[in-house]
Amino acid sequence: MSVMVETVNGLYCPAGDFYIDPWRSVRKAVVTHAHSDHARAGCESYLAAKSGDAILRMRLGAQSNIDFLSYGCQVKIGDATVSLHPAGHMTGSAQVRVEVKGRVTVVTGDYKLQPDPTCEAFEPVKCDTFITESTFGLPIYSWHDTDAMFSEINRWWTDNQAQRITSVLLGYSVGKAQRLLASIDSTIGPIYGHGAIVNACEAYRRCGIALPNVQSVTEAKASGEWHNALIIAPPSVQGSAWLRRFGKISTGMASGWMRVRGIRRRRSVDRGFVISDHVDWNDLFTAIQWSEASDVWVTHGYTQQVVQMLVSQGRSARVIRTEFTGDDPSVEEDGFQDATAETS
Ligand SMILES: [Zn+2]
Ligand SMILES: [Zn+2]
Repeated sequence: MSVMVETVNGLYCPAGDFYIDPWRSVRKAVVTHAHSDHARAGCESYLAAKSGDAILRMRLGAQSNIDFLSYGCQVKIGDATVSLHPAGHMTGSAQVRVEVKGRVTVVTGDYKLQPDPTCEAFEPVKCDTFITESTFGLPIYSWHDTDAMFSEINRWWTDNQAQRITSVLLGYSVGKAQRLLASIDSTIGPIYGHGAIVNACEAYRRCGIALPNVQSVTEAKASGEWHNALIIAPPSVQGSAWLRRFGKISTGMASGWMRVRGIRRRRSVDRGFVISDHVDWNDLFTAIQWSEASDVWVTHGYTQQVVQMLVSQGRSARVIRTEFTGDDPSVEEDGFQDATAETS
C-alpha cells in the first residue's frame, strides 16, 4: 500500500486516516498553508504549522479545531509519522513529510526557493516519493533576482511621486502583499492598504512578522496627498470604483504571470513585476533533485510538461489530479478570493 493515495477528496494517507489539503470536508486534514485552495473550512480537525497559526485562524474561523505543530517535530497519526517542514511559500507554509513502515513521501503544497523575509527558507527533505506542485512548470517561467525586482518597485514608486501620480501595487491579499510590504523601501512615503490586506497584516503581526505601518485606505484622511503614497490592493480592485479616489494612478502588478507579455497586456497593468511565491522551472527541478526521490508525482499546473521532462531524465513520474488548475492566469495566483468586498 502506498503512503499516499488519490481519492475524490484529494490526497489521502490510509495508514494515518487523514487527508492533505482536502477538497471537501473530511474528518482529519493536514493543511500545508492558509490559501483557500489548500485550507478549506468545514473539516472536523486540522493539523498545520505553528508559525502561521493566526493566519490560518483568520482563514478557517476561530471555532475550527486546529492542532499546531512546530517545524521538524514528529507526531504519530495512526500508523503514520508526520512532520512539517518550511516550504518558503508564505508564513506558516509547510511541506508534509509522511513516513509509513520506512517509506517516506513528501507533499510540498506551494513552495519557492527564493528568499522571502516573511517566512523560513524552503527545507530540502529527502524522500522516496515527492509530490510537487507545478504552477509555473514551463521553461519560460524563470524568475529574476528578487533584490533587483524590489529596487524596480522602489524606483517606480519614486518616479510616480515626482510626476504626482499615485502608485497602486496589486498583489494577493494574503502572502504576496505582506512579502511586498516587508521587502520594499517603506521610507519612500506613506503606505495605505485595501481592507483585506490591512486585516491580513494584523494576522501576520500576531505571527511575529515585522511589517511597516499600513493605514487602511477607507480610514485615511490623506485625500489630495495620495501621489506620495504607495497603495497596496488585491488585483480584484482593477476597474472598480475603489480606485477612483486616487486621481491619476499607475498600476503595478507583482506576479509570476507578469513574465509573459501577453498576460501583462491582458491584465492591463502599467507595470509588471515578476515576483512569485512559487518555484520557477529551474527551481522546480532543483527541489526535485534535492529530494532524491525515485518517484515524483506532479499536480496543479503544467503537470504534463513537467512529467515529460522527468521521464526523459529517466525518472519515474506521474500526473495526479487536482480540482484546481494553475495554468489559467485569469484565475488569481493562489485561487484566493478576497473576503472583504471593499469596492466603494
Ligand atoms: Zn496553491
Ligand atoms: Zn498558496
